[in-house]
Amino acid sequence: MTGATRGIGHAIAIRFAKEGCNVAFCGRTRNDKMVAVEQELLALGVKAKGYAADVADFASAQALVKEVLADFGNVDILINNAGITDDAAVKRMTEEQFDHVVGTNLKSVFCMTKAVQPAMWKQGHGSIVNIGSVVGIAGNYNQANYAASKAGIIGFSKSCAKEFAARNIRVNVVAPGFVQTEMTADIPKELMDTWCSRIPMKRPGTPDEVANCCVFLASDMSSYITSVVLPMCGGMEDA
Ligand code: NDP
Repeated sequence: MTGATRGIGHAIAIRFAKEGCNVAFCGRTRNDKMVAVEQELLALGVKAKGYAADVADFASAQALVKEVLADFGNVDILINNAGITDDAAVKRMTEEQFDHVVGTNLKSVFCMTKAVQPAMWKQGHGSIVNIGSVVGIAGNYNQANYAASKAGIIGFSKSCAKEFAARNIRVNVVAPGFVQTEMTADIPKELMDTWCSRIPMKRPGTPDEVANCCVFLASDMSSYITSVVLPMCGGMEDA
């Protein structure tokens, strides 16, 4: 899985380890955080390894999956979670801001799918879960780059679902609403309260709740489900 050094990805990695899955995960650098997550996963009794890789870079993603296959032997599940934001109103958004966010969030899903697809194809099964966002369905102020990247993930996933279905490889999207993580930690409290007041369930989601959706979509519990977008947003209407 991609981007498990903190936030939602960290919760997903832990949850899969608790289900007994071996976990290969990555972040951009092998730092103390990555080593700590690796130790945390190993303590749960599974095989686990953190890799430094920029999944938005095609060659880096290819090298990552090659290493993972050498270390783990196979890849049954791919969770594309790595993502960034760089918000601005379109009026002020620079070309660099657009390219960086779309280049990271959307291209990484392409790079990692391309990298794992041959192994999944050969083994005749696999489940790919891509982390989108309700923003990719509904749009959002100051997040046109992020919304475009997440909308792109939906189109890409549905296309892959069609191409891979006959080989028993499922591709689905989890679209979280507002989830409390480091990514959202800088949001001022007043803005948080305003957002929460617009959520029917009146609270943000948790990383564990995203992880639950991933376990469902990755496992045989959803064996006849492919090409779906599962909103996880406390009932927000436009999702
Ligand atoms: P965080 O910023 O907390 O974590 C992002 C993770 O992605 C980190 O582990 C980071 O690792 C990794 N990462 C980023 N870029 C790259 C890259 N190029 N190559 C490899 N790893 C990378 O984000 P969240 O946990 O909040 O979000 C996780 C996902 O959920 C994202 O896709 C996000 O868009 C989505 N999401 C989040 C919501 C929220 O409210 N938080 C709502 C809806 C969707 P490192 O820094 O070590 O490289």
